[in-house]
Amino acid sequence: MSLQTITFVSFGAFDRELLEKTAEAVAEEYHCAITIRDGHIDLSEYFDAARRQYNGNALIKVVQLLSFPESDKTLAFFNVDLFVPILTFIFGQAYLGGNAGIVSMYRLDNKRYGMPKNNQLLLERLIKEANHELGHTLGLIHCKEPLCVMHSSTYVEDIDQKSRHVCNKCHDEFLAKQNSHQNSGGS
Ligand SMILES: [Zn+2]
Ligand SMILES: [Zn+2]
Repeated sequence: MSLQTITFVSFGAFDRELLEKTAEAVAEEYHCAITIRDGHIDLSEYFDAARRQYNGNALIKVVQLLSFPESDKTLAFFNVDLFVPILTFIFGQAYLGGNAGIVSMYRLDNKRYGMPKNNQLLLERLIKEANHELGHTLGLIHCKEPLCVMHSSTYVEDIDQKSRHVCNKCHDEFLAKQNSHQNSGGS
């Protein structure tokens, strides 16, 4: 089975080690290879002054247009408050079975909730969010299994309740999709 190649693009000031550790965990989960790049866009264009948040739908379109020849999917990391019109905020979003996803660290950080800094918890949440959004791009939908990383999360506490892994059912589905992708002439 050939390896999927994923590009992580970091927009904003990120602790490199945090992204590297996230990449390591995601590569392990989906048996893929991950390259980390720095992205440069003017985020002020995506700021909604009325909501004082950044438009997730507009940003994911930008990410989709960033194409890296060596890479199948692009997951972009932000550190700003993201929204989509129908929701108060989002941790991230992705195109189902597509090639782009976005994740924001903004609401994953304990300091947003007036709690003490906890880098290990932040890393764990970031890994779960990255695995979740990448799972969508790999064709996985939300899962009812509470421990599955594809279980949907509204609040940060929901993220803490689930594991960083896909459940057996989602894992089988992921493998089946990989195989059908290859049989239909994909890489
Ligand atoms: Zn989701
Ligand atoms: Zn599942």
